[in-house]
Amino acid sequence: MSTVLDLVRPDLRGFAGYGSARSERLQGSVWLNANESAWGNPADPGDGCRRYPEPQPPELIRALAQLYDCAPERLLVGRGSDEAIDLLVRALCVPGRDAVLATPPVFGMYAVCARLQAAPLIEVPLCEDGAGFDIDPDAIAAAALEGGARIVFLCSPSNPTGGAISPERVAALARRLAGRALLVVDEAYGEYSEVPSAIGLLEAFPNVAVLRTLSKAHALAGARIGVLLADPALVAVLRRCQAPYPVPAPCAPLALEGLAPAALEATAGRVAVVRRERRRMAAALAALPGVRRAYPSQGNFLLVRFEDADAAFRALLDAGVVVRDQRAAPGLADALRITIGSPDQNDAVLAALRPQRAAATAEIAPAVETRA
Ligand SMILES: *Cc1c(COP(=O)(O)O)cnc(C)c1O
Repeated sequence: MSTVLDLVRPDLRGFAGYGSARSERLQGSVWLNANESAWGNPADPGDGCRRYPEPQPPELIRALAQLYDCAPERLLVGRGSDEAIDLLVRALCVPGRDAVLATPPVFGMYAVCARLQAAPLIEVPLCEDGAGFDIDPDAIAAAALEGGARIVFLCSPSNPTGGAISPERVAALARRLAGRALLVVDEAYGEYSEVPSAIGLLEAFPNVAVLRTLSKAHALAGARIGVLLADPALVAVLRRCQAPYPVPAPCAPLALEGLAPAALEATAGRVAVVRRERRRMAAALAALPGVRRAYPSQGNFLLVRFEDADAAFRALLDAGVVVRDQRAAPGLADALRITIGSPDQNDAVLAALRPQRAAATAEIAPAVETRA
């Protein structure tokens, strides 16, 4: 019987990884096994950083398992979902042989990690129609099987195009790729989506993995907490391939607090605001002269095509509003991606793009934070 381990590089299936001091289960009261200092740093009066942290902080793992409603052994926590993407590509793809499939225009890290691993990149572009951008499952399955893809990355909701993929469609594709490729659903913007998560597929489909993060809706991008949800056997392999201490000591308690009931409630409130503002901004942008199209979005951003994207980008910059220029992406030569901000920040976007009154409103536009 084939298991998901058949998708792991043969030379890594039995790999033990680095045996860090922290991973040995020993008991004692005087810890002299990791060459840590016996004294704290003056900058660290709480002594929180003197010792190496837990590789997978158990309390954080429990909280995340509860948040995503899955078993703790299905969960790998690391430095953002970016690390999980990199780990997956390194652990599954034999350089020069096993390919990575991505669906441009899409988040760039899939291609970057493929390149770093010397894994061939197969690109199956999204299709565009009246409803927006969407995947082409037949083309993806055919290209993956023919091209020897080990990993197929789907982004749902997709950055930057905003569309989401239903679990039914993910399941259908997973079935076609069974035994041949891991289907990774990147749900970095899942909290903002009205389409259900693919997490519910994990038990039935060992070749499905889901990426989640605390960086976007949970507002903890700087803490670098990302999560891979996958088959426990795959998670066990990836833990052995991961850097020894991926979660810095101050980040684990911060993330835990960020997942406490009151914080989750605040997060849910902000997600509701973003959804409301997303609707308002999509309608307002579409009504502006010079806007060709504002795509429907399940994320906290809108992809917008302009008659003159350069002028729009500049008008926004002149008003102090920095948006993401998408013009180098395939098929998006006239497009900008605008994150949904606070209502005031969104008003600043609209004011800057209103042609006649652009000069006047720029002066009174509220200060807008810069964001990555
Ligand atoms: C922002 C983003 C990520 C990166 O998330 P981190 O957890 O901060 O590394 C992953 N995937 C997509 C699609 C993103 O837009």
